[in-house]
Amino acid sequence: MIQFLDLKAPYQELKTEIDEAISRVIQSGWFIGGAEVDQFEEDFAAYCGANHAVGVANGLDALHLSLRALGVGAGDEVIVPSNTYIATWLAVSQCGAKPVPVEPDARTYNIDPARIEAAITSRTKVILPVHLYGQPANMDPILEIAGRSGVKVLEDAAQAHGARYKGKRLGAHGDVVAWSFYPGKNLGAMGDGGAVTTNDPQIADRIRVLRNYGSRVKYVNEVQGFNSRLDPLQAAILRVKLAYLDEWNLRRRAVAAQYQNGLSKCGLGLPYVPDWAEPAWHLYVVQHPQRDVLIRQMSEAGIGTMIHYPIPPHLQQAYSSEGYARGDFPLAEEIAGKFLSLPVSPHLLSHDVETVIDKLLRVG
Ligand SMILES: *Cc1c(COP(=O)(O)O)cnc(C)c1O
Repeated sequence: MIQFLDLKAPYQELKTEIDEAISRVIQSGWFIGGAEVDQFEEDFAAYCGANHAVGVANGLDALHLSLRALGVGAGDEVIVPSNTYIATWLAVSQCGAKPVPVEPDARTYNIDPARIEAAITSRTKVILPVHLYGQPANMDPILEIAGRSGVKVLEDAAQAHGARYKGKRLGAHGDVVAWSFYPGKNLGAMGDGGAVTTNDPQIADRIRVLRNYGSRVKYVNEVQGFNSRLDPLQAAILRVKLAYLDEWNLRRRAVAAQYQNGLSKCGLGLPYVPDWAEPAWHLYVVQHPQRDVLIRQMSEAGIGTMIHYPIPPHLQQAYSSEGYARGDFPLAEEIAGKFLSLPVSPHLLSHDVETVIDKLLRVG
């Protein structure tokens, strides 16, 4: 039996350090904000090569508060990938703005810079690329278009902790970068968590105010803010795990390399990595025309797989008011229909990866 993801394994590996961190917070009696959050923000900013990191409650809030800090509001438009987790779109909708979908590059599955320009209007405020599956989006052409059009760039890096674009870690290529520490992410908490990184001190300051009821000084409220704070218990756990992120990403890369070699001749569509990309391998996603049959056969063989994501946002009931129809975003629909994710984690043994490969060669 090979699980898609074993969330107990990271704790088992770091049990002593995590137990110590949790106990330290409990005994400190300091349960909102404070030194643990400050220290994690400092560590995470340094790791990302960004001047500022601001902890928030989850990845969706990181996106939402970033858009607010960039001034996005009712009537504005934000360019988003047609193939992404729905959080990317929801953050835009929560500002009263409209997500404007753009199809991906057919090889990288990340937003296609060549299609962005045609989607920009006088209402466009932000381009929001997603580093999907841990593969960095092609930032330079996106930044070039944004600069020329006078719009900002917010990156959704919820799946890409530690990934590099042209040699530089993600964290400050665009104006703002949003992160999630949902337990299954490359840097995962033991509950919800999120952060924003940026080199812009004003954006960082605005998010600090927005996450804390619009307040800088207790009981003095400058704006109508939100309660979206990073829990110090989670911050303490994240500090422990951040020290292992690079090593764990290397282990993910080894799993991906093993798949890439082992599956090269079996007819599955495999991930393509441009030479400027160092993916974080959050997911290892392959494509097969009979995807659902394959998933059933793998499951019968005791191997867990998942679909990221089975329904593209434009076909979700949640967005029915936008009036989209099947066929509007064919690449996003094709990805939803043919893709499946194989198990990949720092705790997957190479023996288990071999088992997955053997099964795929036999049934695929
Ligand atoms: C996980 C994820 C989010 C949302 O993060 P939460 O912490 O669950 O709110 C946003 N965007 C992408 C691409 C994600 O994978």
